Amino acid sequence: MKHRIVVLGAGYAGAITAGRLAKRLHRDDVEITLVNADPDFVERVRMHQLASGQDLPARPLGEIFAGTGVQVRIARVTAVDVDCKSVDLTGETLGYDTLVYALGSTIADYAIPGVAAHTYNVAGKQAALRLRARLNELRPGETVLIVGGGLTSIEVAAEIAEARPDLDVAIAARGGVGDWLDEKAQRYLRGAFQRLGITVHEHADVTRVAANGVLTGTGTTIPAQMTVWTAGFTVHPIAAATTLAVSDTGRIVVDATLRSVSHPDVYAVGDAAHAEGVGGKPLRMGCATATPMAWQGADAIAARLTGRKVPDAPIGYASQCISLGRRDGIVQKVTPADQPTSTVITGRMGARIKELICASTAWSIAHPTMLVPSRRRHLVVTGDVAAQFVTR
Ligand SMILES: Cc1cc2nc3c(=O)[nH]c(=O)nc-3n(C[C@H](O)[C@H](O)[C@H](O)COP(=O)(O)OP(=O)(O)OC[C@H]3O[C@@H](n4cnc5c(N)ncnc54)[C@H](O)[C@@H]3O)c2cc1C
Repeated sequence: MKHRIVVLGAGYAGAITAGRLAKRLHRDDVEITLVNADPDFVERVRMHQLASGQDLPARPLGEIFAGTGVQVRIARVTAVDVDCKSVDLTGETLGYDTLVYALGSTIADYAIPGVAAHTYNVAGKQAALRLRARLNELRPGETVLIVGGGLTSIEVAAEIAEARPDLDVAIAARGGVGDWLDEKAQRYLRGAFQRLGITVHEHADVTRVAANGVLTGTGTTIPAQMTVWTAGFTVHPIAAATTLAVSDTGRIVVDATLRSVSHPDVYAVGDAAHAEGVGGKPLRMGCATATPMAWQGADAIAARLTGRKVPDAPIGYASQCISLGRRDGIVQKVTPADQPTSTVITGRMGARIKELICASTAWSIAHPTMLVPSRRRHLVVTGDVAAQFVTR
């Protein structure tokens, strides 16, 4: 009987995990199923590009994983039962021996009135295309307001301002915009906002959104013909509806090997996982986190199934890369605990580095069998449990 590994979600975390597992384990021993709602791999880190009018290549999951041993199932996950070890998909139930939960995240509206009815976002492909359609309707001089002060907000504002210089682009943020960056990066960012004509409303806590703008906590209104919500991300409620241990935000609590602290046959990777990194700080949601989580999670699963040493080094960071349109960017070098250092690369070089990272990540997903060297660990399964392991 083959050991059944089911990976839920084929974003960065799930797709990399599935590809790496296929490389690490022998297909005579394991059956790997990758479930995703969308038939394509979606490069989520480029959704601001899609939203502002650029076209992205289609990356069908069926083609990516053809011949790898990974079975792709296009279906929506509606529930997980970790006690019965099964997953409900639209119309069928899948059993598993090991589950990898990688369903990612979506926008957090913090129950602020008007967000659902009056805002656009870039959390996924459909949302980005909806934003794009609305952007195309705007006339010169009209205002697009981006709510949020984080990386996504900065990237969305810059991309739209570059693509549509005829529009007024503004950002409204509860605190500062990019204020966690090193001083040099902050100075550069302010200069870029000026060059792109982006107005920044800092310390503007948005409490209500209407069709014609937003209201802030101080009673001020910021008029806008279109509001884009980038104020935060949250996870889908599926994990929190199970008996899995989850954080107060619904992310699955995992150890350094990405294994659930409550259910040893469940792993979580990417935005859906709550793990501690270098220095004991929770890892932030990000592609920069999802990728090493996927490597470590896949390697840990393979190691446990093959009786190898399980990798458990905490995950650390190297940089934060911010695109400012297609020709400008900031690469902020950080410590492994994600603290900014004084090393900052800006301008065209910053844009090139960011592009290289995005393109190489997408390339590695599109070529799953190139991910790791070809030495495979062979798992021999007897009865219902992996009993004997050999390396070939
Ligand atoms: C515009 C934008 C720019 C970004 N830029 C950066 C950046 O520069 N650097 C960085 O580190 N991070 C960035 N991020 C964050 C990054 O994209 C996410 O952290 C990353 O995508 C998380 O990967 P994931 O695999 O956990 O989730 P996702 O990439 O969201 O993948 C989840 C997958 O699960 C599928 N799924 C969800 N629910 C279901 C269901 N019920 N049934 C079946 N399938 C389902 C989805 O279709 C998707 O394929 C950016 C995000 C956005 C939106």
